[in-house]
Order: sequence, then C-alpha cells, then structure tokens
Amino acid sequence: MLDRSYLATLSISQASRDLAAGKYSAIDLAAAYLDRIKERDGEVHAYLEVFDDVLEQARSADARIQEGKGTSLTGIPFAVKDNILIEGRRAGGASKILEGYRATYDATAIKRLKEEGVVFIGRTNMDEFAMGGSTENSAYGVTRNPHDASRVPGGSSGGSAAAVAMKGALAALGSDTGGSIRQPASFCGVVGLKPTYGAVSRSGLMAMGSSLDQIGPITNTVTDAEIIFKTIAGTDPLDSTTRIPEDFAPHEMPAKLRVGVPRHFLERGVDAAVLENFEASLEKLRALGHSVEDIELPNIRHSLPVYYVLMPAEVSANLARYDGVRYGARREGETILADYAKTRGEGFGPEVRRRILLGTYVLSAGYYDAYYGKALRVRDLIRADFAKAFVGVDLIALPTAPTPAFRIGEKSDPLSMYLEDIFTTPANIAGLPAISLPSGTTNVEGKDLPLGLELMAAPMREDLLFRAGKEFLGEGE
Ligand code: GLN
Repeated sequence: MLDRSYLATLSISQASRDLAAGKYSAIDLAAAYLDRIKERDGEVHAYLEVFDDVLEQARSADARIQEGKGTSLTGIPFAVKDNILIEGRRAGGASKILEGYRATYDATAIKRLKEEGVVFIGRTNMDEFAMGGSTENSAYGVTRNPHDASRVPGGSSGGSAAAVAMKGALAALGSDTGGSIRQPASFCGVVGLKPTYGAVSRSGLMAMGSSLDQIGPITNTVTDAEIIFKTIAGTDPLDSTTRIPEDFAPHEMPAKLRVGVPRHFLERGVDAAVLENFEASLEKLRALGHSVEDIELPNIRHSLPVYYVLMPAEVSANLARYDGVRYGARREGETILADYAKTRGEGFGPEVRRRILLGTYVLSAGYYDAYYGKALRVRDLIRADFAKAFVGVDLIALPTAPTPAFRIGEKSDPLSMYLEDIFTTPANIAGLPAISLPSGTTNVEGKDLPLGLELMAAPMREDLLFRAGKEFLGEGE
C-alpha cells in the first residue's frame, strides 16, 4: 500500500518512476487519491463527480505497465474541468442548461491522454461555461480554497486547481480564455500553463471565446506541465486554428535569459504584498543569472477592456447553440420561440446572461464599429507591442493576479471581479504562451495564501517558460 503522506510531494515524473519500478501499483496510487478526496472534498468541493470506474482504469494501466508499454503518463490520476469532453461521460460546463448531457466524443487533448493510459478521476467544478474568476458562478455550488476555506480557489478552473492543491489528483486539465488556468493556479499555489493559441486543439472544449480559448495543464511542478503539454499539443485536423507541424520544431536556447518587466503597468490597484513578492521573484531570476530590465508595452493597459468587448461578442455567438433542442435541458413554452426563451432564461446563470447581452450589444449594427471593430484594431496594436518587445527580451514577467485569493462573496460587483484579470488577459489577446509559478505566500488573517509569478513568451516558445520555470522552482531534470 501507499502511504498517503507520500502524495504531499509527489510529481508525475516521480510517480511514473515509482510505477515502472513496481514500488506501488496504479491501483494503489488511484486508491490513495480517492481516499484523499473522501477526506478533503466534503469541504473543498473541487469535484462535481468522481468517476465510478477509477480503479478499473487503474487496473488497465497496471496491465500496460507490466507489459513494459507504460509511458510517463500511464496510470497518472487526472482531474478534468467540466467543459472538456470525455466520450460517454457527463459534461456540463457547470451549467444547468447542460443538465443530463453526455459527451458523444473525446476532446483531442483527452484522446491523446487516453493513448498514454492516464486515469481520469473525475470532473471538476468551474464558473459556468468558464465565465468568472472565482468558481462562484457554478450552478453547482462554490469550490473552496484548500489553503483557506473561507476564500475562493480562483477561476474559472477553480475545481481543477483545488483538486491538485489538496492532493486530490496528481494533475488536472483546465481551460484559459482570459486567465482561467493561471489565476486559480496562483491562488492555490500550483503551476498553471496557458499554451500558445493554436498549440493545443480546442476540439472537444466547450467554446467560450474561440479566438482566446486554450486547454492547458495544472500541476505541482513545471516538469509535469511540460510532460502534459508535449502530449496534448500538436496539429489537429479537427481544429483549423492549430499550428502546423513545423511550428513545433525545437528552438535554440540562449545561455542566459533576458526578462522584461512592463513596470508602468504595475502602478495602480495592485496589492502591496503582491508587489513585494513580485520584486522578490525578479531578484530570484537575477540570482539565477538572468537579466531583468524594464520594458514599455504602450497598449497593454487596453487588454482588459479589449477582452471584455471581444470575449462577450464571441460568447454570444458560441452560446447560441444551447437552444434546448440539441443539448441538455429543455423547458417547454407556448411556442417554439418561447421554448428557446424559457430554456435559455432558466438554464443560464446571471453572469452568462450578462455576457450574452453585452456581446449581442457590441455586435449589433449600430455599435459594431464603435466597440467590436475598435477592439479588434486595438488587439492588433497590443499584438504588435508584444512582437516588438520580444525582439529585445526572451520573457515578460508580471504578477499573475493583483491580489491573493479573496473571500467568498467579496467581489459581488462584476467589475471588481473583471479587474482580477488585468495581468492574465494580455497573453490571450496576443495569443502568447504564459505560465503561473508559485512564488511564495503572504500571511492574511493568520493564513498563508499563495501568490504567483506570471511569465509570458513569444508564440511557440513554451520551452523558455519551462526552462525559466524549472530554474525558478529549483527543479532538477
Ligand atoms: N476571469 C476571466 C473571465 O471571467 C477569465 C475566464 C477564462 O479564462 N475562462 O472571463
């Protein structure tokens, strides 16, 4: 049997070495995580569902390992955000409108993980259709931060981050449209990677903002994030926005890295403890032999407003498919139009309805040029700023979020919640890869709350994030 305290420091790389050496079986490993979920998830509520065939999956993984056909992911227990499809299983985007819906196919990322023989533990809670930054917008109740149960785990992938942080899974998949992998990773003290736009297929991910969405890993270590990224990334005929095979060729790695800091962007509204921690992180990067310099990104401050025009526009189009006919729940009205109105009015929560209204508004004939068209043009300026900056630096650093985890119910004003995304939305707007690394904690009311360092790189330069991230966290190869 596996001593459960062992899970506290376990990584994918360690577990796969242990499994290959026969130190314990995939069944032992899965059982240890199931035990831990029993112990912790009553309070945390990271999971919407724990699958009933976990041990059977683990048994197949053991058989494969015994045949000598195991890979670094065979038998690894994974949690999956509720907006990523696994064939035959419930998938709901934490929305009532998908009540009873079962996935009819595997997301490409899931298919690739299945080929490695991972063990899917369950599906995790999230903000409804990934709209939010706290997991409070779920139709199935809030998830609590494992470090302080009075606080949110972040969002929208809050269940996935909490599952990894409470040792209720060895790794998780999340999705990131404006920060939903990185911000919960930061609040929960784990690693979260948003890949380059197009590096990972979006096939089988419930669409929120199609020009922004990416699936990515939430893990304990950077090495683990890299293992998962390399497995799920790649060209996919089912997603025409995935990169071509040549784009995945290895790059040259500079001896020391140049890190740019858009200091002008840190002036307002950032928690003092976050700023102090950020300076300490930069010091650490310097101590590792890298250079840190100030850079200008003149339009980065427009990222948040641009995001909150483009994202709702895409949301309003993407969520038109939930009509009560094709998927999930259906409410009958007097006429067919009343069927739609009732299904959508009762099936969607308030934040989703707010964004559909906003999106319909910015796309409407009289306002398209003033809002949507203008936001698209500013998006080009932001992209150009980054392209220019990456001529002079390899990485750009920011805090992941302007605050540590806030209290449940604290940000009831939607605008104050949107401001949480200030440092994460630029990477989505520009399609860049970005990682959140645990960078220490701050003591708030007697609890140590995790903070995160965000590093961004040029498109397809995840290798730079992995290199710097491993050094920052002191991970050997
Ligand atoms: N918090 C952001 C929002 O509410 C990001 C969501 C996401 O990345 N899915 O839109």
